[in-house]
Amino acid sequence: MKCRHCSQPLTHKFVDLGYAPPSNAYLSADQLHAPEVTFPLRVMICDTCWLAQNEDFTAADDVFSPDYAYFSSTSSSWLQHAKSYCEMISGRLGLTADSFVVEIAANDGYLLRNFVAEGIPCLGIEPTESTALAAEKIGVPIWRRFFGEETAGTLIESWRQADLICGNNVYAHVPDINDFTKGLAVALKLGGVVTLEFPSLMSLMRDFQFDTIYHEHFSYLSLTAARRIFASCGLRIFDVECLPTHGGSYRIYGCHDTDARSDTKNVQALLDEEQAFGLTELDTYREFQGKIERIKDDLLLFLIQQKRAGKKVAAYGAAAKGNTFMNFSGISTDLIAFVADAAPSKQGKWMPGNHLPILPPADLVAYRPDYVVIFPWNIAAEIVQQQVAIRENGGRFVIAIPELAVLN
Ligand SMILES: [Zn+2]
Repeated sequence: MKCRHCSQPLTHKFVDLGYAPPSNAYLSADQLHAPEVTFPLRVMICDTCWLAQNEDFTAADDVFSPDYAYFSSTSSSWLQHAKSYCEMISGRLGLTADSFVVEIAANDGYLLRNFVAEGIPCLGIEPTESTALAAEKIGVPIWRRFFGEETAGTLIESWRQADLICGNNVYAHVPDINDFTKGLAVALKLGGVVTLEFPSLMSLMRDFQFDTIYHEHFSYLSLTAARRIFASCGLRIFDVECLPTHGGSYRIYGCHDTDARSDTKNVQALLDEEQAFGLTELDTYREFQGKIERIKDDLLLFLIQQKRAGKKVAAYGAAAKGNTFMNFSGISTDLIAFVADAAPSKQGKWMPGNHLPILPPADLVAYRPDYVVIFPWNIAAEIVQQQVAIRENGGRFVIAIPELAVLN
């Protein structure tokens, strides 16, 4: 396999999580009796450009084109995050009714609705039909496409170059990151700005967030790698912010490399921090696997102890994080009875791979568990607060990442 950015041979393994089914392939009762497809879940590190990337494997694309579409507007905190961003960036760039904003992976219009409300012309690029329809319903114009150099070429012929291109949680998910970045350069006006948000590789490594690794997540990005990819496409990252979203994300600001604006001091400061952390040394990546295996072992030991002591253990959060963790650990219904989730679309189904049944939160209360393992550690505080009845019945909450902890 060659590096998806710089084409150098990829020989260094960074993380090996074994084999896993697609993370959102929730199973129906019928499917429980059918064979299940799994794919290697391994991340390689390129020691030339430092892009951490999922290993290639042969798979039919339809396996990873999930019929399960996530609607961004269902999260109120994410809606607020988008609104704050729109206010900030409109002011910073002085966007007006003469500007043009493009959002890549516009989802259900959760973000662009704010520009529509301000009378700033915009266009969302979104390939998923169900979310695109939802966006159009609230007045957000959508072009149904995947983004890349070719799409960008058609975009500037049919519309025009953008003053602002934004993309939240899309950059790490594109298979061809070079083509995507070239597209940004084509679609961006001279003097325009690109902002992209993506989870930070440094946060992933610092807090052992290996459960954010799944097949559809192709790249695990540092500023060091992103800056190099931008540069190869005639773009320059001139500012960066660290955000608390998704366990630690970056928001990078890019412009054409000929742009007169100078880099803020944030860029060099974060590059220095990444270097001090060891992101440009192979040993840092080599040591990671041993550390995450320890985290896995700690949770397994805890679950086995509870089983032997006759305790009742369930889980909360039927999301990709839990799938990655449980499939890596070999945890199944022998150690965790079921997983509760508030999303009606998941209830009554089974988790892929580990086959834990997914039940409504009310069933969790009725079960009177001694321990509830919370897999989405990023919203653990929220879940503990919500699930008052569990605590009143003497149940305790457990997280495994960044280290095993009983929360109450
Ligand atoms: Zn490379």
